[in-house]
Amino acid sequence: MSRIAYVNGLYVPHAEAVVHVEDRGYQFADGVYEVCEVRGGHMVDERRHMARLVRSLNEIRIRQPMPLAALGVVLRETVRRNRVRNGFVYLQVTRGVARRDHYFPDPETPPSIVVTARAADPAKGEAVAAQGIAIITVPDNRWERVDIKTVGLLPNVLAKEAARQAGAREAWFVDRDGNVTEGGSTNAWIVTGDGKLVTRPAESGILRGITRTVMMEVAEKLQLRVEERAFTVKEALGAREAFVTSATNFATPVVRIDGQSIGDGKPGPVARALRENFHKVAEIAR
Ligand code: PLP
Repeated sequence: MSRIAYVNGLYVPHAEAVVHVEDRGYQFADGVYEVCEVRGGHMVDERRHMARLVRSLNEIRIRQPMPLAALGVVLRETVRRNRVRNGFVYLQVTRGVARRDHYFPDPETPPSIVVTARAADPAKGEAVAAQGIAIITVPDNRWERVDIKTVGLLPNVLAKEAARQAGAREAWFVDRDGNVTEGGSTNAWIVTGDGKLVTRPAESGILRGITRTVMMEVAEKLQLRVEERAFTVKEALGAREAFVTSATNFATPVVRIDGQSIGDGKPGPVARALRENFHKVAEIAR
């Protein structure tokens, strides 16, 4: 079956889905995006992802391309046309097409929208989680506004590629004070010796992950205590468990940081419990 993409009002074959060379997303990374899980054919936490999209758009003053209800229809239709049961839907909105110039274009310039969807085998993600992942740490060299989900991801790309070359799957960014901020495409968590979950406050230096927010609720249901505070690489190395969260990873255990084993070097019970219970708490509109 051929894949279909939604591009600026049209559903087109994925292989022919193109944007203009003067799209500001292409030229300036002047755009924002969202990635939403699809499970059993339904979007997971659509409401929260759309709320974050609106926030990102507002922060960089791109106008909302269409009402959220209409955007929801496009997302669902893209999922349907690609016959995705389990996988992900990707949505990108840029400031549109205009002659290359740093200043914002004419306010009438319509934002560009691209939506793609692809299937992913849940068994593969489960296999990765069952093994746990290795991560490396890298200096956080990103701009300050990482709370905005922009398509400007070059530092993340370089960090994740460095991780891959080191035989790891993710890189954790570390700020100037030696504290972990977040992963290249995930939020970072540890479990302390006395069983508390620790993750950096969303107010500084990280993207407020939707999965992170939902996991807070999962933790509460499991009667686990959560502390939102910064933690150092040293503390992470001595932690009982570590894990990452994102829409594509749910909770995935980290078993090695910079080559050193975490805990007993195997996925821990807290990360496993959070992963197992995630979809009981996440919003899945049927
Ligand atoms: N942090 C960064 C830098 C990300 O790119 C992502 C997801 O892509 C996350 C955190 C996790 O966010 P979410 O749980 O909304 O997928």
